[in-house]
Amino acid sequence: VAVEARPRGLDPEQLRAHVAYLADDAQEGRAPGSPGDERAGAFVADAMAAAGLLPAGPDGFRQPFSVQDGVRLRPGAQSRLAVGDAELAHELLPFGRDTSPGGPVPGRLVFVGHGIAGSDDLARARGRLRGNIAVALAGGPHGSDVPASALRPQAKLIAVRDHGAVGLVLWDPVDDRPPPNSGRVDDLAIPAVFVGRAATPGLLEALAPGAKSIESLRPGRRSRERAQLHTPVEPVVLATANVLGRVPGRGGTTQQVIVGAHLDHLGRGRPGSLAPDEDAVHNGADDNASGVATMLGIAAAWAERPVAERGRDLLFVAFGAEEMGLLGSRHFVERLPAEERARTVAMINLDMVGRLRDELMVHGTGTAKEWPDLIAAVADPSLRLALVPDGYGPSDHASFYEAGIPVLHLWTGAHEDYHRPGDDVDKLDFGGAARIGDLVLGLLERLQPPELALTYVELERPPATRSGFRVSLGTMPDYGASVDGLRLAGVAKGGAAEKAGLRKGDVVVRIDAREIHNLQDYMAAFGDLLPGKPAVVVVMRDERRVELSVVPTAPRPH
Ligand SMILES: [Zn+2]
Repeated sequence: VAVEARPRGLDPEQLRAHVAYLADDAQEGRAPGSPGDERAGAFVADAMAAAGLLPAGPDGFRQPFSVQDGVRLRPGAQSRLAVGDAELAHELLPFGRDTSPGGPVPGRLVFVGHGIAGSDDLARARGRLRGNIAVALAGGPHGSDVPASALRPQAKLIAVRDHGAVGLVLWDPVDDRPPPNSGRVDDLAIPAVFVGRAATPGLLEALAPGAKSIESLRPGRRSRERAQLHTPVEPVVLATANVLGRVPGRGGTTQQVIVGAHLDHLGRGRPGSLAPDEDAVHNGADDNASGVATMLGIAAAWAERPVAERGRDLLFVAFGAEEMGLLGSRHFVERLPAEERARTVAMINLDMVGRLRDELMVHGTGTAKEWPDLIAAVADPSLRLALVPDGYGPSDHASFYEAGIPVLHLWTGAHEDYHRPGDDVDKLDFGGAARIGDLVLGLLERLQPPELALTYVELERPPATRSGFRVSLGTMPDYGASVDGLRLAGVAKGGAAEKAGLRKGDVVVRIDAREIHNLQDYMAAFGDLLPGKPAVVVVMRDERRVELSVVPTAPRPH
């Protein structure tokens, strides 16, 4: 009976073999740009070729792309934080200026407390900041309700820069761990370094000779001696790739369905690890070797079908750099030619499908009118489904949904090994993963009739939690864009931005008096806005400057 119930099903042992390779310690956690990441990509390409898929990337099965991953010193260069003759140990931050063209920045050190925009501490220090180097404590005062957005190091840099500071020293007297030097690099126009506990006595002595404790420091305190800050840095650029294979539909097929799963994971615990103090390989067996293995099983099963049954092209994609912010899927969608996008009926994402317990979560069921009926038609009675309408989740399907494509995301839920070194192959349920693969095969079958159309439904984006902003504009920043300004990936229906006439693709270059060069400037501008008070927003649209008046609203409660 079991055999009849699954005539063309996935083979759990095959899935286990795939995961065993991808989540082996030898792959070192598949961090983007690492040798393990490259081996995993080659493994997927080989498996696709063996299953009879056609290469669908610009470079065989590969679609190479690069991502920024923090900063490092330029070759042969040394960074420097010195006060008088004293050299202070420090760490680099991925949002300061490269000072190698002009050389070290001179100035006195000025203590600004926590350096929070609009705070009394900053007001007290303000008069002494011009031409000097601000020293700001990390975090916020105990028990204060300052929003997290204002406590970010980047927000502090912008706050002191607004008052003429020429550099920033971020200071944590009790911890030697700097903010992560990883991911996208912003040049916020003045150099910045981190000083931790180890160099705290030296920094305290420089600011207030003889002082016994930080508590005695008052905002506005200035070093007697001149300081020098030098950060000759460059972005670290990692090369990685998406891996793409196609199973063509029968002749005359004009539409395609995409099935995807991200291939990368956290290496030895990149930022994103929930066990930051453990130096151990994060194998990511469930997250997301399970999804890649299941996708490969689906691809192999699909490629075996008679071509007459294949009414649509199927594109299978293993995405890179998902854990760094959906970078592979964003790259893929950005490069998707308009006619390819137009012929894409749906995208199905498999991210963490290896730990089936009570039920399978299916997100995105509200993104096309037809999803609920299609899913009901293929449901396996022994597989309980939890349907969630939302299509904006923290995984690759969101990149497609934002581009107007109906999506589904299948996953078996969070667990205690999530983003920890314990996410290993021996904890996975391959029988469960195979059943999930079978369910997807059933769905793909239902999606084959060329006359079947899916109707995209635009859902309201859930409000960002804990952003702490007083206002909402209803804009969606395009985190992947490299432009001078902030490009909008979209505007929320009925939001302040849409009402003011802002559009997807606009590049915001000014809000009121503030120039916008990047996301950090944009967030700082947010901090200046008040609900109901109109703001002038200047955008570049098709090389023209367009000035609009936006009335920010209060954020919706959630
Ligand atoms: Zn994942």
